[in-house]
Amino acid sequence: MRNLILFGPPGAGKGTQSAFLVAHYNLVHLSTGDIFRANIKGETELGKLAQSYMNQGKLVPDDVTIGMLEAEVNKHPEAAGFIFDGFPRTTAQAQALDTFLESQGETISAMLALEVPEDELKSRLVARAATSGRADDADPAVIQKRIDVYNAETAPVADHYRALEKYHGIDGVGSIEDITARLTSAIGA
Ligand code: AMP
Repeated sequence: MRNLILFGPPGAGKGTQSAFLVAHYNLVHLSTGDIFRANIKGETELGKLAQSYMNQGKLVPDDVTIGMLEAEVNKHPEAAGFIFDGFPRTTAQAQALDTFLESQGETISAMLALEVPEDELKSRLVARAATSGRADDADPAVIQKRIDVYNAETAPVADHYRALEKYHGIDGVGSIEDITARLTSAIGA
């Protein structure tokens, strides 16, 4: 199996690049943000719980997020691999993911980390608010909170996969096609 983590701060282009990678490598795309938003739309208990955290730019608690992610993986026993988008976001999530995959005889193949300067992230998110319909894109204070949470809680996840020699830093500035080419060359390597 090919199990990829597409990593990076909010606005780095994870969702955009996932669309190409899932088709090209025949992977199942698991975006925890998308799954939470689907639950909010469906007015599920999980959605109600997640919404208050998301609207404030905070992380949904680890136990909830990890349980949800494992259930989603288990829905795809025939998958050729997964692309994890927006997960893991804490070192506890990374450890849980590694242990969960190991219990199935699997492992993370690579972490692909899109690197984008903070000013560029903010302008992309402000522009995305016009079309995304996401409350967390529409408020500059929530955007700042998401970036702060990324720096404090999520950035250390890169060190976890660096230590395992699975980390690939990818320049996330440029045309969508150029960034896709950088990703495919890192995956091929
Ligand atoms: P995203 O679509 O990846 O930008 O995620 C939107 C929001 O969903 C985040 O700001 C968090 O509130 C929540 N979320 C998504 N993924 C996770 C995760 N792995 N752990 C905790 N919260 C998450």
